[in-house]
Formats: sequence, C-alpha cells, structure tokens
Amino acid sequence: MSLLSKIFGHKNKPITVDELKSALKNKEFVFYYQPEWDLKTNRAIGVEALMRWESPKRGYVPPMEFIPLLEESGVIHEFTHFLFEQTLKDLTELHTVAPELFMAVNLSISQLHEPDLAETIQKYLSANNLDAEHLECEFTESQELGDDVLSNGILDKLAEMHIPVSIDDFGTGYSSFERLKKLNIRKLKIDLSFVRTLMEDDKNKSIVLSIIKLGHDLGFPVLAEGIETTEQQQWLRDNGCDYGQGYWFSRGLPMEQLKPFLAENLKQK
Ligand code: C2E
Ligand code: CA
Ligand code: CA
Repeated sequence: MSLLSKIFGHKNKPITVDELKSALKNKEFVFYYQPEWDLKTNRAIGVEALMRWESPKRGYVPPMEFIPLLEESGVIHEFTHFLFEQTLKDLTELHTVAPELFMAVNLSISQLHEPDLAETIQKYLSANNLDAEHLECEFTESQELGDDVLSNGILDKLAEMHIPVSIDDFGTGYSSFERLKKLNIRKLKIDLSFVRTLMEDDKNKSIVLSIIKLGHDLGFPVLAEGIETTEQQQWLRDNGCDYGQGYWFSRGLPMEQLKPFLAENLKQK
C-alpha cells in the first residue's frame, strides 16, 4: 500500500475513542491562539484558544470533527484539565510580553455540566498565579443552553469567582431576552455569518446594529467575529462595535509565532 493510500485510508475511518485517548496522552492536541482586538485603539486585548488535532495518521483534524466525539465518549473531562493546564501556562508566558492580555477558552455545554469545573479552573489559576479576570469562558447560545445549566449554578459560580463569561456565535441560537437578562455574562460575540456578508447585505447590517445596541443597553461590550476586510473593520468600528477578531487582524497562531507577533503589535502603539 502506498503512503498516500495509507494516509487517505485512515482519514476515512471513523475516529475512535481509543484514538482520542492516545492523542491526549501523546499531546497531539495543540492550541492555536487568535487575538481579539480593541477596534478603537487597534490593540490586542486577549487571545482565544482554538484547539487543533495534529494527528500523525490523519493529518490536521478540525475541531468540529472530534469535539462532539470527545463529549460523547466522556474523554472531555480529561480534556478540560488539559485545556486549562495548557492555556493558562501559555498565558503566563504571554504575560512576559503583554501583561494585560486575557485568555478566552471555549467550553461546550457538557463541560459546563462537569460538577468540579469551578475547582478545576481555580486549580490552574492558582498554579499559575493568575488573576481570574485574565480568563474568559465562552459558550455558544446555539448549544441548547438549557434551564438545567442555568439552575446548576455554574454561571453564578463563575461570576462569584470573577471569571468573565461571554456568549459565542450570538444571533444564531437561543436569543431569549429573558435568558440573556438572567445570565451572568460579560460580552457578546456576534457570529461570523453576519459579518461575512456585512457590506453586501443590509439585513445583516441591521442585525449587527441591533446586537450592538442590545449589548450596550444591557451593559455588555460587543465583539464581531470573522472580520476579513478593511471595510468590515471600519464599518464595525464606526458603528460602535467595541472589539473585533478575524483574519483581517490575524488567524489563530501557535505560541511560538503569537508571542513575537503580539510583542510587535503592542510595541508599535
Ligand atoms: P468558534 O469558537 O466560533 O471559533 C471561531 C472559528 O472561526 C475558528 O474556527 C476560527 O479559526 C474561525 N475564524 C476566525 N476568524 C475567521 C475569519 O476571519 N474568517 C473565517 N472564515 N473564519 C474565521 P476553528 O478553529 O475551526 O474552530 C471551530 C469551532 O470549534 C470553534 O468555533 C469552537 O466552537 C470549537 N472549538 C475550538 N476549540 C475548542 C475547544 O478548545 N473547546 C471546545 N469546546 N470547542 C472548541
Ligand atoms: Ca469561540
Ligand atoms: Ca464563534
């Protein structure tokens, strides 16, 4: 069998739980970090951790292809430890060049259900001597943020610990105003689908303006995801959007590229 057919043959096979377990053990999961920017000052304010699986057999596997399986198989709990251990260690290193930055991590609903989530977070914050304000937890409103998550108290617990929480992919899922009012959150992230065709689509402009107003009226800053062009960046800034993220600023970068990139950005201002 040729090397190519071996690789492609493996790629087509369904991912197994054992594979994920050994990938975790062999440190095949890595984080790329995408900066978030203040649109007014054009300064980086934090980074979002985006997980990648660099499998020797399958090549690059996008997160959406293996995260659901991590969740179904229960390996996600082990992964949660790895997530906070690695990202907060990396944040400490980033603070040597940019001491104000925060680390945003994505949490799925099953992670919000982990009974010891708050303790896990506290453990790694303490281990790295980090202030809770330097962490931000993102979850998406499209992931059936049910009443059970609200009532299990995790969001209140995170708020008590002073850990900011933001809603990801805002505008695509449950936008119940009642729920939004009850949630103890700090930031809305406008889904990139509204930003992608922002300049061509007046309806998207109206939606984005409404989200900015809603966020501000409720006291949250608003971030637009998926900014790819100068026009989008200028329009969002001129229309009061606070923060931005997207390929126009930077893609997700591995630590060794991120550190010099941010050091250079912050030096220029
Ligand atoms: P997300 O949290 O909404 O992350 C944004 C996704 O959009 C990322 O894809 C990012 O690379 C991509 N993106 C950023 N800027 C642009 C842009 O300007 N244009 C376009 N077209 N795309 C852009 P990625 O890394 O493939 O992640 C996909 C999703 O996987 C994430 O969506 C998040 O929901 C999930 N994910 C990633 N890492 C983790 C993790 O550690 N834990 C959990 N539970 N989910 C994660
Ligand atoms: Ca996110
Ligand atoms: Ca998003």
